[in-house]
Amino acid sequence: MTGKYRVGILGATGTVGQRFLQLLDGHPQFNVTALAASGRSQGKTYEESCAWRLPGEPPASARNIVVEAPQPPLDCDLIFSSLPGDIAREVEGSFADAGYAVISNSSAYRMDEDVPLLIPEVNHEHLALLDKQRALHANRKGFIVTNPNCSTIMLALALAPLHARFGIKAVIATTMQALSGAGYPGVASLDITDNVLPFIANEEEKIESETRRILGRFSNDGITHAPFAVSAQTNRVNVSDGHMAAVRVELRRKAEPDEVSAALASFTSLPQELKLHSAPEQPIIVRSEIDRPQPRLDRDAGRGMSVTIGRIARDTVMDYRFVTLSHNTIRGAAGAAILNAELLIATNRL
Ligand code: NAP
Repeated sequence: MTGKYRVGILGATGTVGQRFLQLLDGHPQFNVTALAASGRSQGKTYEESCAWRLPGEPPASARNIVVEAPQPPLDCDLIFSSLPGDIAREVEGSFADAGYAVISNSSAYRMDEDVPLLIPEVNHEHLALLDKQRALHANRKGFIVTNPNCSTIMLALALAPLHARFGIKAVIATTMQALSGAGYPGVASLDITDNVLPFIANEEEKIESETRRILGRFSNDGITHAPFAVSAQTNRVNVSDGHMAAVRVELRRKAEPDEVSAALASFTSLPQELKLHSAPEQPIIVRSEIDRPQPRLDRDAGRGMSVTIGRIARDTVMDYRFVTLSHNTIRGAAGAAILNAELLIATNRL
């Protein structure tokens, strides 16, 4: 295709939707031409319907687009979806059936056997599942690709080089997740001020199952999940952006601390080779200071697309422990989906 792809955003007024618009402003391959949200917003211009919560103003090119219902047809070639999970399944399926490429943030299709759950640096070979999707859905003229849960992305990125180099036997991850991860308005201020909430609905299950699928092996039969246990506990903390996780891993093969650090710090993959627009130069940045990573200082590393890892040390129960952090609405959501779309273009699937 010559020229830019015309993009529609579902859930455009929400936390992730706003981040999509910010990241797509001036993007060399995409032009936003359609926006959709709930009945509350439909029929109004984006400017009228959206309470913009990012610094600066909404992109000028989007302000006068009239927000529509999230149903086909929309005036675009591909769809970025950031709809709530409960309505995403029906809506995204209808766009895919109608011939749109749907690149989704929501959880609705992530575990479907024929849908790639994609992190371009980790499992780009899972894109071959699109052939299976085509075969299983004779009436589907488009397709669906998903990105993982926001905490899963940083965990899977951190584990990928360790699994490739040393093999992983078991993982324990305890997250400290930012408020923006709950969307807007999210958690009530009186519940989170001076507090930590040790429960995020369905989050632990998503991290445990998605991580094993992403690090699983593709064959013609589908994905065989990675053969190690993942145990996750999730907490909501009083931070605006940036999810963090304290991780412990048991490895199959012995490794020295500098080998573990080097495996993480030197990790690059296909998006870096292809120089995709949103790919960070370093998917993983290893910091050696004793008090890093921190959300405020490290969430914007690599324009929000790098994962920052620190506190790498031998563990007295498992083999190694470390702390990982990434920007939940960029690498964990909108940026992840845009990188997926860039990979689809570069591999001639769009
Ligand atoms: P949010 O701030 O609550 O935004 C929800 C968006 O969906 C709004 O645009 C809203 O439109 C629209 N919407 C709600 N109900 C609708 C309906 N019945 N029909 C059509 N549109 C509807 O949520 P969010 O944080 O952006 O999350 C969106 C999705 O991304 C969720 O599936 C979430 O799990 C996933 N996700 C979020 C993050 C994150 O860090 N926040 C990370 C990864 C994945 P109105 O403004 O008109 O109500």
